[in-house]
Amino acid sequence: MVLKVYDSLHEVFGYQNWWPIVENDMAIYHPDYRSCKRTSQHAFEIGVGAILTQNTAWKNVVTAIANLKNQKNFSADKLIQLSEAEIADLIRSSGYFNQKARKLKGFASFVLIEAGGDLLKLRKKKLGEVRSLLLGLWGIGPETADSIMLYALGFPIFVVDAYTRRIFSRLGVVKETVGYQEVQDFFHSALKSNPELFGEYHALLVRLGKDFCHPKPLCSDCPLRKFCTYTNAIL
Ligand code: SF4
Repeated sequence: MVLKVYDSLHEVFGYQNWWPIVENDMAIYHPDYRSCKRTSQHAFEIGVGAILTQNTAWKNVVTAIANLKNQKNFSADKLIQLSEAEIADLIRSSGYFNQKARKLKGFASFVLIEAGGDLLKLRKKKLGEVRSLLLGLWGIGPETADSIMLYALGFPIFVVDAYTRRIFSRLGVVKETVGYQEVQDFFHSALKSNPELFGEYHALLVRLGKDFCHPKPLCSDCPLRKFCTYTNAIL
């Protein structure tokens, strides 16, 4: 069932090539990005993007990242030298900018202290250790930590979000109120431990959530219609 859902989404939407990198003020979805092979700068940008995307649409994040990247030498070292007020001004488009400025300062400090300024060095540590370190940062919850773990560092960890819960509860697989860890355990036991698969799967669920599985869903053209207990119950 879980792989059939993936295949159906992939057949309709194709590769999503997450996580996008901002170039010339635009988000670029390059096929190389889905392999989770990163440069150090891309890894850092993904970490920043994972924080900025909390509670806002991605297009608002692109503007904020573009502003940050237009500063010289976008890096943990550079970010830590800016005041929270200066960062907040640059990321205003992403909403909650004062809180997010504080989170970004905390993240930049973490990258400098725990990874010597190069986030990719954390790949040498164990998954559980890196996850605990990230979850220890102020304002970083499981979804943000796992987005960084998966998309920036290439650890095989499934990212769960509100779309995942909504879609899989409507498919009749989990309850929408079920906890983060339970949903993640479900995907980890149902799929091969493969970062590229996990990254594409999460991106495809986001695509379905945005295009079809809204709070008021557009079921008639949904690629998952044949599997879905929700639409079959209401029709
Ligand atoms: S058929 Fe409807 S409820 Fe089911 S996953 Fe698709 S959009 Fe969501």
